[in-house]
Amino acid sequence: MQGLMQPWPLLCSKVIDHAAIQHPHREIVSRSVEGPIHRTDYRTVRSRSLRLAKRLDREGIGLGDRVATMAWNTWRHLECWYGIVGIGAVYHTLNPRLFPEQIAWIMNDAEDRLLFVDLTFLPIVEAIAPQLASLEKIVVLTDAAHMPESSLANLACYEDWLAEADDDFAWKAFDENTAAGMCYTSGTTGHPKGVVYSHRSNILHSMLAQQPDAMGLSSRDVVLPIVPLFHANGWGLAFTCPMAGAAMVMPGPKMDGASVSEMLVSEKVTFSAAVPTVWLMLLQHLEKHGGALPDLNRVVIGGSACPRAVTQKFQDDYGVQVIHAWGMTEMSPLGTLCTIKPEYAGLEGDALLDLEMKQGHPPFGVEMKVTDDSDADTPWDGRTFGRLKVRGPSVAASYYKGTGAEAFGAEGWFDTGDVAHIDPHGYMQITDRAKDVIKSGGEWISTIDLENLAVGHPDVAEAAVIGLPHPRWDERPLLVIVPKEGRDPGKAEILGFLEGKVASWWMPDDVVFVEAIPHTATGKIQKMALREQFRGYSLPSA
Ligand code: ADP
Repeated sequence: MQGLMQPWPLLCSKVIDHAAIQHPHREIVSRSVEGPIHRTDYRTVRSRSLRLAKRLDREGIGLGDRVATMAWNTWRHLECWYGIVGIGAVYHTLNPRLFPEQIAWIMNDAEDRLLFVDLTFLPIVEAIAPQLASLEKIVVLTDAAHMPESSLANLACYEDWLAEADDDFAWKAFDENTAAGMCYTSGTTGHPKGVVYSHRSNILHSMLAQQPDAMGLSSRDVVLPIVPLFHANGWGLAFTCPMAGAAMVMPGPKMDGASVSEMLVSEKVTFSAAVPTVWLMLLQHLEKHGGALPDLNRVVIGGSACPRAVTQKFQDDYGVQVIHAWGMTEMSPLGTLCTIKPEYAGLEGDALLDLEMKQGHPPFGVEMKVTDDSDADTPWDGRTFGRLKVRGPSVAASYYKGTGAEAFGAEGWFDTGDVAHIDPHGYMQITDRAKDVIKSGGEWISTIDLENLAVGHPDVAEAAVIGLPHPRWDERPLLVIVPKEGRDPGKAEILGFLEGKVASWWMPDDVVFVEAIPHTATGKIQKMALREQFRGYSLPSA
């Protein structure tokens, strides 16, 4: 027997319609690329997105066509996403921090036909334009007054181009499994791999993100998505915010401590999301110049492990709840969030911080397990590491063009490439990337745990741990440290600080001080480059 309910397809256009009808005057405030603060609302953004859809339709862009964006978080970037999905075309976010050759490779692989680009990134496009085989048109996200000189052919000015259409247009109808968006993972080895989101997966992802034990957004929230739309589907916020009717504050090109703190205070932001480095910059700014965060209620921190000192500072000094989260591009991207279950109610001080160092538990819609080398489930004891696997309606079933098939296992389990353990109450903690974990004498050492401890030292700005070959133990840890400006902690001082906080056999065999640690395009420590840099380095114990 079948249910007798309506098939109402889960299309992204329904979200922006809902926001425009139910929360028409909720604001979208942006720091524009041109400089000034720009204010609009859901009703106006929907109207302009309809014009954009109509204009794209007139360009001959339709169902399944890939439309690239290389842009900061602004209202115009949102209009692009909403207009593109509204006609069944596919938004393809490009990370401008990748090498230009990599961007060209990705654009050709995706066969992007049209590109929306911010003024900031036009030089990148000018440099790679001759390599872009499928690209037909470039629209610069600005108005006529700011339109630059350019050598590029088929260039249009966004506001003029948009003005050529009105909003008398209807969103297209199609199957909910139709592609909506595309994002390539950085791929530390080999070419980047394309993840293709569907309308259905985006909607279900935003619904799972909405749960009170996940992001728990409401129409009373004012959200500052600092995480760029080009990083892992913008953590889904472009759909989760309008679904909730939350106001949006878009930081544009400025994500430094001063700019972020200004937006947080002046726009009365209640909720924000970003990687740890952004929060480190903000906290360092506040430490130096003073200031409070009176309206900020909670922040989601993910993308890399959140240092204990960041969580502690936010909570103790500013009264802001930290929600540590884990996810990946392949998961739309939310996987787990560290909110407090009743089993852990009443924890305080260090015990609470210990819990908050975990990446948390999955909301409804994400299943997870940890398996050992023989593919058997590991016990949920909060200790036994293994490979973390996930499945759910917003988890990738394959990569674009079928690359990387080995990650997709039996019964839908996707191997995340992360190493983790799960505790008796279902809290997952990442201990490493599978390729970064240190294998010492047959046992595993978590580089993330060591890094988190090291950045707790008051003189340490950043820390990375890598495994170096060792004649007796296979691999032993080397701790690489960037000291804070003007500070000079010695090796003995750092080792003394770690002493007693980790098992003695986890203690780094050596500590080196450097000016900078290399980062990937999404702000993660580039362990491969670091291992390359220290190839041949001999540990005193070796
Ligand atoms: P990219 O691989 O393109 O840099 P992703 O966001 O897809 O971008 O990266 C996902 C990976 O980031 C995860 O598999 C995990 O290794 C790491 N990661 C994400 N969040 C956390 C976190 N809270 N703690 C530790 N690692 C994290």
